[in-house]
Formats: sequence, structure tokens, C-alpha cells
Amino acid sequence: MSCIKNTKQAIFDLEDNVKEPRKKIEKEELEDLETFIRSLNVSGIGYTKVPQEYIFKNKAIAFENAIVLTMNMDNKKVSVAPSTKTSQTIWQTYDNLGKAANKIARYLRTKGFNSHASHPLGGIALYPRLAEKAGIGGFGKSGLLITPINGGTLRLAAVYTDIDNLPLNEGNDHGWIMEYCKTCMRCFKECPPGAIFEKPIVHDNGRETHIDNEKCFPYFADNYGCTVCIKVCPFNYTDYETIKEGFEKRQKTR
Ligand code: SF4
Ligand code: SF4
Repeated sequence: MSCIKNTKQAIFDLEDNVKEPRKKIEKEELEDLETFIRSLNVSGIGYTKVPQEYIFKNKAIAFENAIVLTMNMDNKKVSVAPSTKTSQTIWQTYDNLGKAANKIARYLRTKGFNSHASHPLGGIALYPRLAEKAGIGGFGKSGLLITPINGGTLRLAAVYTDIDNLPLNEGNDHGWIMEYCKTCMRCFKECPPGAIFEKPIVHDNGRETHIDNEKCFPYFADNYGCTVCIKVCPFNYTDYETIKEGFEKRQKTR
């Protein structure tokens, strides 16, 4: 219920946007903003412009730049997926991150900036791709974001704004992950309803679909939020740099 309330609140709050918004954020203000965001238990922050193809059909964002946010789930509770404990951490993280996104949007408005919070549940844009573009992590076979901070054990949200001097990320340091995934495929093999495509569906606009939602969503709903794909992912129990070094060594000796 709290998730639904906060999703709606994000829309109501749009009316509070400023009539003559500021478009430039000072360096110190950005540092203060990040300190505020971290105080809300947000684990990852990144900035990017939102490509049109990442916005879901019939949805819209109010501003074209995104502050992308991640919040860690409890690894211990994910390690017993699927279970009531896993379900607890999923929903708790959705709720906490949704509240955090609304607070960040309000914080920006108090400083004279426009903002639009987007709840982690039922987002407006393709969050894992957005987070990858923002430099927080890489896109994995399971359709999830994988980060050096906490593997794939996290949830994602965004706050959209028209501040035009955010330090937008360029490049992708995590592109190797998908290559590593081709050598792993554990999530594909262990997904209970077989919802992960062996090869992604590539759409006309270049966007890829890795998950069959018609198989994943019902299983997720009936089995405590499932999360088996995160549980079995090596990034959930092995350090990111260790996996990367091992992978790069193997690539060199091939
Ligand atoms: S949440 Fe479960 S059903 Fe959905 S992709 Fe992951 S393992 Fe498969
Ligand atoms: S389980 Fe393996 S294939 Fe799936 S996302 Fe994790 S690393 Fe990639």
C-alpha cells in the first residue's frame, strides 16, 4: 500500500515544481545533494540524459536528465530466495527507495530546481539501461543491473530534472559484464519458469529484451518475489573486481 501511495505522491508533487526554475547547480550544491541522497541509504548515484527509446510506451518523463539511484537489498535474505524473507527485503527496498526518490525530488524543489520522482516499482523508463548509461553498473543476462557495489542485489529508481550541468556519465566501464554472462548463463539455467531468453530479442530500435515478462511476472507474484536470478548470480557472492580480473585473464589466454 505504501508503494502505491508514494507512486501517486510523486505525480501529485509535480504540481509543486517551480515556475522559474534554476538550471545550473553549483559544485557545492551538488556535493550537498549527494550527501543528502546518501543519508537516505541510497548506495549508487549516477547522472545521464534519458534516451527516448528507454521510455516505456505510453509513458512520459517531465524532464530529460536523470539522477539514477540504487538501494541495496539484504544479501542474506536474497540468499534464501524464494522465501518470505526475500519477499520482505524486496518490498522493503522498493518502499524505502520510493520514499527516498520523493524526498530527493522535494529537496531539489526547495533549492529552486524542477524535479520528477520515479518510483522503483513500475518505473517510467528502463531503469537497468538507464543506470548503465549513468555509469553505475552493467547490464546482465538476467535483465538486471550488476554493480561493483552490491552485484545485482539492489533496486533502482530515478529523479528526472532539467538541471543542465549535471556531471553526465560518458562511456561504459561495465560493458564486459555481458561478455562474462555468455560464459556463465547460471540465471538462464536456473530461472524456475524459464523466463530468461537464451538469446535476447532485438527490436527495430535496437533495444533488447532479455526476460519474458509473461513467464517471470506470474512466477514472481506467486513465489515470494522469486529473485532466484539474483541469488545464483556470481556477482551476488563474489567480489566484482575478482570476477573481472579472472575473466580478463581467461580472455588473454584464449
Ligand atoms: S525473478 Fe525468477 S522468474 Fe523472474 S527472471 Fe528471475 S529467476 Fe526468472
Ligand atoms: S547469473 Fe551469470 S549470466 Fe546471469 S546475470 Fe549473473 S553473471 Fe550474468
